[in-house]
Order: sequence, then C-alpha cells, then structure tokens
Amino acid sequence: MGADGTGGTWPILTRLGDLVRARLDWLAELEALDVGKPLTQARNDAVALARYCEFYGGAADKVHGQTIPYLDGYTVYTLRQPHGVTGHIIPWNYPMQIIGRSVGAALAMGNACVLKPAEEACMTALAFAWLAEQAGLPPGALNVVPGLGAEAGAALAGHPGIQHVSFTGSVATGSTVQTLAARNVVPVTLELGGKSPQVVFDDADLDAALPFLVNAGIQNAGQTCSASSRVLVHRDLHETLRDRMAERYAALQVGPAMADLDVGPMISARQQGIVSGFLTQAGDLTIAAQARIPDGPGHYAPPTLLDNVPPDHPLAQQEIFGPVQAIIPFDSEEEALRIANGTDYGLVAGVWTRDGARQMRMARALHSGQVYINNYGAGGGVELPFGGIGKSGHGREKGFEALYGFSSLKTVAAYHG
Ligand code: NAD
Repeated sequence: MGADGTGGTWPILTRLGDLVRARLDWLAELEALDVGKPLTQARNDAVALARYCEFYGGAADKVHGQTIPYLDGYTVYTLRQPHGVTGHIIPWNYPMQIIGRSVGAALAMGNACVLKPAEEACMTALAFAWLAEQAGLPPGALNVVPGLGAEAGAALAGHPGIQHVSFTGSVATGSTVQTLAARNVVPVTLELGGKSPQVVFDDADLDAALPFLVNAGIQNAGQTCSASSRVLVHRDLHETLRDRMAERYAALQVGPAMADLDVGPMISARQQGIVSGFLTQAGDLTIAAQARIPDGPGHYAPPTLLDNVPPDHPLAQQEIFGPVQAIIPFDSEEEALRIANGTDYGLVAGVWTRDGARQMRMARALHSGQVYINNYGAGGGVELPFGGIGKSGHGREKGFEALYGFSSLKTVAAYHG
C-alpha cells in the first residue's frame, strides 16, 4: 500500500466484492444452470462470494507478524509473506463459495493464483475472473485454467512453479494431488468429504432441530461436503423424530434449477448413477420416506430417509453425495459418541441437547473439524475456520485462519549488541 493509502490487494478485493454484489442475479443464474441447484441456493452462493471478497479485502491489511523477546542484544520479529503462486483445484458442487474462500484468502495475502475449476461447472470461475479484471486485479494475478482433472488438474498439482496447492474434492483425488505436490515439497490443503452426524438427545428442542436435520441432508441435492447424512437419535425420541422428518420429506418439491424448488437434479448422469447404486445397497433397510421426483428428463435422485441403519452399514459409512439420510438410534451418550466417531471422516458434527455440560463434553470428544451446538452450519459463516480431520482432510480455509495457511512465516533475528 502506498503512503496515500492506495495500492495493495485490499481495495481491489473489496471492489471485486462490490462488482459481485452488483451481479448477484447473473452469477446465481449461471451457477444454477451449470450445477442444477435451485436458484435461491445459487443466489446464496453468490452472496457468499461477495462476502468472501469483502472479508478478505478487509482482512488483508490486518495480518501482521510479532516481535519476540529474546537474548540480550537481539531484536526478533516475524514476517508473513506470500507463498508465491498458489494452485486451486475445486469441485463442481459450490464453485462460487470455494473460489471465494480459497482464492479470496490467497489473493489477500499477495499470492498469484491459478484456479482449475471442475469440468462439470466452470462458468462462475470464468465470470469471476472477468469481474476481477474489471476490479483492477493486475494481469497474471488470477488465472483460470478449465480442463480435465487428470490433465489440467494433475499438471497444476505437480507443477514446479506452484508453491502451495489448495484442493477441494474427493479423498481419492486429494491423495493423488498431495502425492503430485510432494514431488516439489509444497504445502497442500485438502478439503475432502464427510459422513457428518447430527446427534439428537432426548432433551433436544425438536421443533428447532427439524429444519436443520432435513436441510442439511437435502441442500444442493445432498451434494455438499458437510451434508449431514447421518442422524443419530436417542431411542426415546426415535419414532417421533423419524415421523416428523418423514413428514418433511413427503412435502419436498423436486424439480429443475430455475423452478427454484427445494431440491434440484444431480449434477450429472454419473452422479445420479452413484446415488442409485447406493440406494440399491439399501436392500431390506426401512425407507421411512422418499420424495417424488418429476417425470421426464433430468438426472434426479429421490430424497430418501432410511431408518434404523446399522452404524457399520455402507450407507452409514460411505459418502453418498446425494439426498440420502440414515437415521441411527442410540441408547447412551457413550454409544452416540462411538457411532458419531465411527467413520473414517471428520468434517462436521451437530449436537442437539439442552444440557450444557453434555454440550461441552460432546464438543470436545467429537471427531470433526467443526461442531455445531443446537444448530448446524451456523449459516455458513465466512469468518469461521473450516476443514477436516481424518479422511476429511487437513489445513483450514475460511476466516482469518486461511490467511495463515496462504502465507509463510519468516523469522528475522537482528543482533545489534
Ligand atoms: P473430484 O475429486 O473428482 O474433483 C475435484 C477436482 O479435482 C475437479 O476440479 C477435478 O477436475 C480435479 N481432478 C480430478 N482428477 C484429478 C487429478 N488426477 N489430478 C488433479 N486434479 C484432479 O471431486 P468431485 O466429485 O468434483 O467433488 C466431490 C467431492 O468433493 C466430495 O467428496 C465432497 O465431499 C468433496 N468436497 C469437499 C469440500 C470441503 O470443503 N471439505 C467442499 C466441496 C466438496
């Protein structure tokens, strides 16, 4: 930044936020048509993109090093510096949100970014680059390279000119990306999948919980990393919860993105096929409710609520990435915890209870990067650090924490006697 307050990244990022806000409807329409998500959900993503630009624009001049008391005769301080060129490989389910949280933070720290959007949905990445140019981002600071994962994505992950890789996607691809990046010994952030539980105790406020329980399973047709695909419920509340969730499922409206209903189609025939494959594995499990899908064209998967799913069943263990939720009853807090923590993943968990001590115990013991108490997702807050443990990945994006990940720390020790 110059002495007159001009220059630097922050005015450009905040200006970019203004440009995104001025085009919310256009961006929402592009995303809805590209991804198939209902228009209102796509518009929320566009608002989130604007918020990320505003947040990281505002944060860019508030990240600083420290002075460290040390031996006599020394002055020691730390500097936060950009990595250099950062690679961003993103999936198709929430392109705008993920661009905002990863590219926004990387630009704020002074990196130049190369963004590889998913082959299924790259329109808003290109639109964002166009807006960034208008906001005054210098040429080369943001480069969007659409292409196939195995070609463009792999080339980016293993490129010797990249100093940091941010990957959001599946476990298998994340592992490949980390291996490619390891050849150049560069840091990698992996934001992967989940099998996230919401744990409902017998003292829960069920009226408050119900919208969260269902929405967290069907939002974006379940194609959400933090989808709550497991609902653990105390046995005393089991039948009531199942029946009330089933009522909501029966009322869900499924249809094209532009009809802006509750649930849209899956992104592709392939994703629809994956969900159908899982539903075939449901075998003799009880289907508590299934929403109707429209007749005619469209890759729809019926929102499906399964009851009494054994905790070790594939449908309670594997990420489906479709609108399918498994209800799993439990008898005690210990059992609830064991089931909640009993998958390879650790992204998000929700706890519904009025008991304050239990809230604190569960928050500490749950195996996940985020715990939500008496809510789920906290409105998606751009301010809140986000990421996983276990097979859900490592590193954190969102909030101030991302700014540390997208920069490197230098220690300067000056001896002056
Ligand atoms: P994916 O891993 O198939 O693809 C993600 C990205 O990686 C795409 O851009 C793709 O082109 C690219 N890619 C594919 N093969 C590659 C390779 N060999 N080298 C480099 N890049 C390659 O994932 P997907 O099916 O698009 O997305 C779904 C997954 O993403 C789910 O598991 C979901 O949970 C996860 N996800 C996680 C988060 C999170 O924040 N934790 C957010 C959204 C999605």
